[in-house]
Amino acid sequence: MSKNWQPATQLVHGGTLRSQFGEVSESIFLTQGFVYETSAAAEARFKGEDDGFIYARYGSPTNDMFEKRMCMLEGAEDARATASGMAAISAAILCQLKAGDHIVAARALFGSCRYIVETLAPKYGIGCTLVDGRDLANWEAAIRPNTKVMFLESPTNPTLEIVDIAGVAKLAKQIGAKLVVDNVFATPLFQKPLELGADVVCYSATKHIDGQGRSLGGVILSSKEWIDENLHDYFRHTGPAMSPFNAWLLLKGLETMPLRVRQQTENASRVADFLAEHKAVARVIYPGRADHPQADIIAKQMTGGSTLICFELKGGKEAAFAMQDALDIITISNNLGDAKSLITHPATTTHKNLTDEARAELGISPGTVRLSLGIEDGGDLLGDLEQALSKVKA
Ligand SMILES: *Cc1c(COP(=O)(O)O)cnc(C)c1O
Repeated sequence: MSKNWQPATQLVHGGTLRSQFGEVSESIFLTQGFVYETSAAAEARFKGEDDGFIYARYGSPTNDMFEKRMCMLEGAEDARATASGMAAISAAILCQLKAGDHIVAARALFGSCRYIVETLAPKYGIGCTLVDGRDLANWEAAIRPNTKVMFLESPTNPTLEIVDIAGVAKLAKQIGAKLVVDNVFATPLFQKPLELGADVVCYSATKHIDGQGRSLGGVILSSKEWIDENLHDYFRHTGPAMSPFNAWLLLKGLETMPLRVRQQTENASRVADFLAEHKAVARVIYPGRADHPQADIIAKQMTGGSTLICFELKGGKEAAFAMQDALDIITISNNLGDAKSLITHPATTTHKNLTDEARAELGISPGTVRLSLGIEDGGDLLGDLEQALSKVKA
């Protein structure tokens, strides 16, 4: 397998293991265990003298193909596929920490990620400081002698704020802490956190990697050394393994991901420009537009815009609900990265558990709407938004 392949080639061919039948499409190995020719072969496998499979909770052939394909795309040495994005993120953070350690995390996090660092970790004696991640000075000020992990997502959910990944990575290196990046919103095609200095990258494969709304999944990618020292035993013994069936679905998803993400990003860019000119819209936040407040950092660390747009309606919640309810093609759902365009009102759904103050800190107002663009025809989507916005009282 060539390291010089472009992503579109890696994602069709990378990591493929063929059985003796020479199948074209990857096989699904639905097996819990593996047999050994002899007792000595079993002994050798358990000693780690050959790298065959032992038990599906540790690893299995279809999952191995998915992990190798993701490693190739990400430029990582090793990976573990998990049952969901949250299984990936909770394992990546907790496997390397013990009571008395401290996490610094950006406060703009996917809700369940915020629960892991803000609520769960402290129950086990792991401290956490949440910061406004947009300013590197806040990260630096939050560092303590026992800080072991820094954690962020960029762009953030739902207001598409940006964190300077190379800047945070540099701070982490200075104190020997590890930087974990949740790269879901950027997709592995538009941002490479490991190249920017991060130590660990996580995905919810549920989003763009599946991309067709079928299965949950996740993946943790890092150096072989970090995985061997931190994740290897934790993963084997706590059991967040992905189902081989889902690994197969996600391998198929990876094959078409570049085509889908390209179409979604083209749609997002057109829709963002349309919304920015609309009289019912107070502001549009889109990483592909020159008026994004952090366009300078985006230019340094991202190679594409985003498949998501955040915008605010002048008429607040009433306008947001009226528009969402009038849409024909775009569907109300809190998922993202799907082939279908999906819209959500964060203040009453994904971010309803935050206090008004915490929502305001994140820039979520009653008129804020998050739109995940699908692969439909861009003109049809513009027409749908136009007719729905015409029903909003200005
Ligand atoms: C969806 C998502 C997760 C969680 O992934 P699941 O597959 O739903 O467990 C974590 N982080 C971000 C940014 C997400 O969008």
